[in-house]
Amino acid sequence: MIRVDNSAEKRIFASLNNSSINNLKKEVIEKLEDIESSSVRDYNDLSVFESYTNADSISIFKFKKLICKEITNLLRSKIDDNFKAELRTLRDDIYLILSADFGTMKNYLKDKVDSNSLLIYQENKKLRSSDYKKYHKKFETLYSKYLSNVKSDFKKPFFELFNDVNVCPYCNRNFINPIHKDEITKLHGANDNQSPDIEHFFPKSIYPFLSLSISNLLPSCAFCNKIKSDVDTYTQNCISPYEMKENDDRFRFEFDSIDTDTRKINLKCSDTIKNSEVLHLDNLYNEIHSDYVNEMFTKHQKYPDVNKKFLKNTFDLSEDEYQKHFCNYYKEEEFNKHPLSKMTKDLYKHIKEYGK
Ligand SMILES: [Zn+2]
Repeated sequence: MIRVDNSAEKRIFASLNNSSINNLKKEVIEKLEDIESSSVRDYNDLSVFESYTNADSISIFKFKKLICKEITNLLRSKIDDNFKAELRTLRDDIYLILSADFGTMKNYLKDKVDSNSLLIYQENKKLRSSDYKKYHKKFETLYSKYLSNVKSDFKKPFFELFNDVNVCPYCNRNFINPIHKDEITKLHGANDNQSPDIEHFFPKSIYPFLSLSISNLLPSCAFCNKIKSDVDTYTQNCISPYEMKENDDRFRFEFDSIDTDTRKINLKCSDTIKNSEVLHLDNLYNEIHSDYVNEMFTKHQKYPDVNKKFLKNTFDLSEDEYQKHFCNYYKEEEFNKHPLSKMTKDLYKHIKEYGK
């Protein structure tokens, strides 16, 4: 797991890329930041932009319009009255759901879970399954058509938000850079854009109303998306890459035993956090990367401080360059650029603490 920025700027994306929309985007971002700095956060203040030219090119205005239209259609159908009341509230809160930062979105979700909301999938709940299916299908269709579909105008801009993230934020192992049509040569005969998966941190099968919420979406490798599947990350108490902080100690790698020849990696998580179990990270790292880890340890022992000084002077290397060349030791702000970067940094820290 590595940290991913969840700023207001990250949460706005537009299907167009020109100066008129850039100005509007800037205004929307400023408004969003204003809302989030005030004591009473009213995300509906964003509605002032709805009538602006090109507002529909911005994800939150387009998605808001589409979702509200579908909810209104649902309200006209024959569904449970209590469910109707919840859908009306959902429609009123749609700006918050679409554009809020991760913490606000999670608090909103907590309120829904605590109140046993009909908007959340639960087995044997009182709501008729046909009512839930109708509502679930509406969100599933909107997500497929307007975001995940290769022909969607919002797909490429969505991935552009994560241009600085080269590796999967969940496993920090696989590269996730998209390839767009104009970059694929005719030689390969491909005519589709190729992109990583879009992963819903809180699964859309259980929480359909978060299907298009940017704070719930991250690019991920196909492996993590598949392995995470529909696990309920809320009840399992997983943390999102958006929630991770600098030097976040809730999630770190250590050697199980530093003195043995074959070193096992231990993934230390706070007791209550279940990311490792849900993503099978402990097994993945130990089974696949043990050779890498042992090589890293050997390399570190081969270059004690005296050799390090010689190499740095001979090749005129900065500390940073030395670490990259000989230890693959990365700064936290570069975790998103290199595979296994978080593990490498944590393990080097562990080696140093033991004075090895
Ligand atoms: Zn992954």
